Amino acid sequence: MRLGDFYNSDRVAVSLELFPPKTAEGMVDLFQNVAELMSFGPSFFTCTYGAGGSTRDKTLDIVERIHNEFFIHVAAHLTCVGATKEEIRAYLEDARRRHVDFIVALRGDPPQGEKRFVAVEGGFAHANELVEFIRQEFPDDFGIAVAGYPETHQEAPNRAKDLEYLKMKVDAGADIVITQLFYDNDDFYRFRDRCEAIGIKVPIIPGILPVTNLKQIQRISSLCGCTLPPELLSRLEVHAENAQGQFDVGVYHATRQVEDLVNRGGCRGIHFYCLNKSRAVATILRALTLPWKTVPHRG
Ligand SMILES: Cc1cc2nc3c(=O)[nH]c(=O)nc-3n(C[C@H](O)[C@H](O)[C@H](O)COP(=O)(O)OP(=O)(O)OC[C@H]3O[C@@H](n4cnc5c(N)ncnc54)[C@H](O)[C@@H]3O)c2cc1C
Repeated sequence: MRLGDFYNSDRVAVSLELFPPKTAEGMVDLFQNVAELMSFGPSFFTCTYGAGGSTRDKTLDIVERIHNEFFIHVAAHLTCVGATKEEIRAYLEDARRRHVDFIVALRGDPPQGEKRFVAVEGGFAHANELVEFIRQEFPDDFGIAVAGYPETHQEAPNRAKDLEYLKMKVDAGADIVITQLFYDNDDFYRFRDRCEAIGIKVPIIPGILPVTNLKQIQRISSLCGCTLPPELLSRLEVHAENAQGQFDVGVYHATRQVEDLVNRGGCRGIHFYCLNKSRAVATILRALTLPWKTVPHRG
């Protein structure tokens, strides 16, 4: 099944993003959570690529195991950080061998302590070059997703340029755009309108990270530059000493966001940043009576 086809029907395709855990216990926990999430009929799972390629093998191990155990489509993330073209080619060959369906093609962040991204000699400076490379070298092997930024990428010279660069990634062959997390749907709608206005025609899939912990979300949002609406922040602060209260407020907010994106915004896909836990996403999907897509499992 082609990546873009997930978003071509009246139903809503759910993709679920995981990251490689550091410990063996974390891995056991991850697979229990994946098994629980399978009952909601997701379309595919994705697994991130650790900063600087630190989890390269683990990323592929996880998606391969999900594919083998659950017969579902899988996507491996890949960044350009610290990698030459040859290393990237080797990763993609390995991904193909392990039946990875889709690649989330990214530039990646500068290594810790560095402000600017510097491409290694013989590597790529921007994600559009990576997309071009995948399309040239692996023309029929992978669907490609790229990242989009409703609130503009932090390093971009301005909003218009950021969008031009996004269009370059799409023109190079990306099938879909998955957005950075956001908490105000109007940011997403404005972004989607701007994409349409400059001729980006592929599906733009909103990325949702339910808040389950105030401190964690403050850290994540400052890292990725997304805004926490003041009313959400103050509701969370009321429960500063109450973990369940924070979970409830965050999950309620995300539930309302998803409902609005599907019903008012007409979105035919939602990408959840699960952080390896099923509880928040399961609560949201259970609360909504939306036409979730149950895609036939791959054989
Ligand atoms: C859905 C999603 C998944 C992610 N998964 C991971 C992951 O697994 N691992 C990880 O380390 N990080 C991940 N990230 C974070 C991502 O790596 C960072 O946001 C990174 O800083 C930018 O990556 P990019 O692919 O958007 O880069 P690019 O598209 O290359 O953009 C980076 C910056 O350069 C500018 N730019 C883009 N193209 C050009 C060009 N041709 N010339 C000049 N300037 C240009 C852009 O405006 C932007 O400011 C993810 C982000 C998202 C939204």
